[in-house]
Amino acid sequence: AAKAQGLHGYRFFTASMNERARAQRRIETALRQALPRRELSLHYQPKVDAQSGRIVGAEALLRWHANGRVQYEPDQFIPVAEDTGLILPIGAWVLRQACKQAQLWQLRGQPVAVSVNVSPLQFQHADFYSWLDGVLKETGLAAHLLELELTERMVMSGGDATTDLLQRIKQRGVRLSLDDFGTGYCSLSYLKHFPIDALKIDRVFVRDLTSDRDTATITSAIIAMARSLNKLVIAEGVETREQGAFLRLAGCSQLQGFLYGAPLPAAEFQKLLGEPA
Ligand code: C2E
Ligand code: MG
Ligand code: MG
Ligand code: MG
Repeated sequence: AAKAQGLHGYRFFTASMNERARAQRRIETALRQALPRRELSLHYQPKVDAQSGRIVGAEALLRWHANGRVQYEPDQFIPVAEDTGLILPIGAWVLRQACKQAQLWQLRGQPVAVSVNVSPLQFQHADFYSWLDGVLKETGLAAHLLELELTERMVMSGGDATTDLLQRIKQRGVRLSLDDFGTGYCSLSYLKHFPIDALKIDRVFVRDLTSDRDTATITSAIIAMARSLNKLVIAEGVETREQGAFLRLAGCSQLQGFLYGAPLPAAEFQKLLGEPA
C-alpha cells in the first residue's frame, strides 16, 4: 500500500514510522527507570457476584504515575514493555505485589481473590511454573485466591506443552481465566480441551448489548455454551444497569465494570470491603 502511493507517499509513511519508533523509545527509556523509582503501582477493580452483588474478587491493573500525574496508560506502555522484555521484571513485581495484597486482605478476614494479567512473554518463559510456585510460597497466599488472566492466543498457540503447563497451574490450585474472550480466535469447541475455569467476555460485546440485537444474541449464546462446558463467565466493562441485568439473566457469574467500581488504589479498594467482621 505504501508503494502504491508513490515516492511521496512512501516517504510520508517512513517519517511516521520514525515518529512512532521515537515515541516507543521515549516510553522505553522512561519505563526502565519506572520500577526502581517506584512509579508503578497497582489499582484494584472490584468483581462482584452477579446474584448477590457482593465483591468476590479484584483485578490488579498496573498504573504509572510520576510527579503526581499519569505518565502513560497501560495500553500505551504495556506493548512497549512486551517488545523490550521489560514486562518480565515488571510482571514479576506485579504478581508479587498482588499476592502480598491479597494475603493482607485474607489476614484481615476479608478474603478477595486477586486476578493478575499475564503477558505472553512471561507465560512462555521456561521457569514460569516454578517462579509462580515460589511467589505463592514466599507471600503465603492460598493458591485459590489467585487467578491468572491469559488471552486466547496464549492458550491456543502453544500445543501440548501449553496444555501441560495449564494443567500444572490448575493442579496447584490457581484459577485460570481467558481475558478479552471473543476478540481472538478461540473456538468454543476448543475450550473443553483446556483446563480454564472462566471466560471474561470482552467489553466490546458488553458495550453493544443493549443497542444491537445481534450482539445480544451472540453474547447469550457464548454464555450458554460456556456454561454447558462448565466454565464460569465473567463480564467486563459493565457500565449500565441494563447491561448488568441482561448479563445476570443470561447466566454470567461475575460482573466487573465502572457500574460496580473503577480501579482504585489498594487503600481505597479496601474501604469498599467495609470493616472486617
Ligand atoms: P484488561 O485486562 O482487559 O483490563 C480491563 C480494562 O478495562 C482496564 O483498562 C480497566 O480499567 C478497563 N475497564 C474496567 N471497567 C471498565 C468499564 O466499565 N468501561 C470501560 N470503558 N473500561 C473499563 P486498563 O487498566 O487501562 O488496562 C488495559 C489493559 O492493559 C488490560 O486490559 C490488560 O490487558 C493490560 N494490563 C493492565 N495491567 C496489566 C499488568 O499488570 N500486566 C499485564 N501483562 N497487562 C496489564
Ligand atoms: Mg484482564
Ligand atoms: Mg479484558
Ligand atoms: Mg483488554
